[in-house]
Amino acid sequence: MVIKRGIKLENRNSQSGYLFDRAQKCIPGGVNSPVRAFRAVGGTPRFMQRAEGDRLYDVDGNEYIDYVCAFGPGILGHSIPRVVEALQRMCEKGFCFGAPTEQEVQLAELIAEMVPSIEVSRLVNSGTEAVMSAIRAARGFTGRDMIVKFRGCYHGHSDGLLVKAGSGAMTTSVPDSAGVPTGYTNDTKIAEYNDRAGVENIFKENPGKIAAVIVEPVAANMGVVPPEAGFLEFLRDITKKDGALLIFDEVITGFRLSLGGAQSYYGIEPDITVLGKVVGGGIPIGVYGGRREIMNMVSPVGPVYQAGTLSGNPIATTAGIETLRILRDNPEIYRNLDEKAGKIAGRVQDAGKGRVQVNRVGSLITVFFTPHPVRTYEDAAASDTDSYARYFHFLLDHGIYLPPSQFEAMFVSEALTEQDLEKTCECIEAFFETETSLEE
Ligand SMILES: *Cc1c(COP(=O)(O)O)cnc(C)c1O
Repeated sequence: MVIKRGIKLENRNSQSGYLFDRAQKCIPGGVNSPVRAFRAVGGTPRFMQRAEGDRLYDVDGNEYIDYVCAFGPGILGHSIPRVVEALQRMCEKGFCFGAPTEQEVQLAELIAEMVPSIEVSRLVNSGTEAVMSAIRAARGFTGRDMIVKFRGCYHGHSDGLLVKAGSGAMTTSVPDSAGVPTGYTNDTKIAEYNDRAGVENIFKENPGKIAAVIVEPVAANMGVVPPEAGFLEFLRDITKKDGALLIFDEVITGFRLSLGGAQSYYGIEPDITVLGKVVGGGIPIGVYGGRREIMNMVSPVGPVYQAGTLSGNPIATTAGIETLRILRDNPEIYRNLDEKAGKIAGRVQDAGKGRVQVNRVGSLITVFFTPHPVRTYEDAAASDTDSYARYFHFLLDHGIYLPPSQFEAMFVSEALTEQDLEKTCECIEAFFETETSLEE
């Protein structure tokens, strides 16, 4: 294999360049979700045409080994025949009835069977919507308003959660986004991930006022930052003592770290779990669920209102059911994912010794361009994003599609072949060699 140094030429004559120009005239920034615009790494986003197995194919006829997996859903890879066939059969019968279907029951049963803390669940259309609804249920159940979230954890784009923190102050919360009145975030307290003392302080200052602590059990939206030993247990204990609920946002980790998600992986049961991404097999879906007494707060049983025209539609549920059944019936998938991801992480860490810190939990990986261990938001934020951008483009030029930001997880899929894994590792090694030779 010939590996050349990636040189980023803006190819305005490419189909992707042409489509991106057109897109920017009619869609904000040319994209329907910001990170797709490549602003964190520069260059022109690739417009994709189709995907199969571990490959993405763009409109210019280029082919890429995919490590984004649609930012999580693609745990099995793309266009899995069994899922595609089930979807085709369902499409012929109809795709939206505005009335209950058997598929909703099947999916809720599968979720309850797999996720330890979920007895009852409600389907919505996105992770954002699921988190928003989970928080409403937690507030309704506890009769309290305050929410604790962690800096660097992402829980979708609903108003009350678009906060990282006011500069260093733990008690004031300033919205991250324009258009969010401070009134919406006043009840959101910010703590540092893996910092027990900070969480203790918030509880000490606000006894009996906190409805819930929401956390990504493995932080994966500041790059991958694992929970330190005892951190999740600590959150479980402190919430229980205060009468607050613990919400695990398992939109990424659900069905990804294990069939039962992070809660099975670490053996900690939250009160409410939020799911998305994998559970829809690539079709829009979100889920929130938990113990019966909590979920009984939700309309039409209880007073917490929540509804959705397209919620639980048979296309999304069919993709979810087939995906979860494949995962359930092939438990070796999680061992395979762990092995493949372990190989990649090990090779990158060796090749980039002294330059990168590789964090990995199961099939979630981030290569941080920093020589220091990354255990907090601050550690992650100190990464050299210019180096990441060079790394990203070098690999993109060699047909390897990584997340277009230092702060997104790299996802490994079951479809990744040994051959493609090897090619990826060789390209990464070549990247670090050229970086070294440039310095010399
Ligand atoms: C992606 C994500 C969400 C939001 O889900 P959407 O389907 O994009 O609305 C929420 N929480 C976490 C942890 C996520 O990774």
